[in-house]
Amino acid sequence: MVEHPVAERSSRGQQPVRTCIGCRKHGARNELIRLVASGGGSPVVLVDERRRMAGRGAWLHPSGNCLMLAIKRRAFARALAGASDAAAVERYIEGMPPAEAPATADQPSKPESGSEN
Ligand SMILES: [Zn+2]
Repeated sequence: MVEHPVAERSSRGQQPVRTCIGCRKHGARNELIRLVASGGGSPVVLVDERRRMAGRGAWLHPSGNCLMLAIKRRAFARALAGASDAAAVERYIEGMPPAEAPATADQPSKPESGSEN
């Protein structure tokens, strides 16, 4: 029997929700990375790792897929005052460790060894 963990219902203040500019889905603030446009003449997109940089921010899932979607639809330029060079974001996402598989008892139960009978 598999028990599903009961969805937590703690009402400890609501997580602010943000919209990913790639897939347009909503996510909790701590699931998305914050992007800002660097100041200057030709702004580039920067990853605001601490989420404290001033200025207009945009939010993205830290996944290559969402990044691609955002690039395709030019979401950066739209969300970030014309900044369209997302190389820093690409580097950031590429440098991230792969998402960890949730440590659940989700493995198929294998027989110990292949010895039958
Ligand atoms: Zn996304």
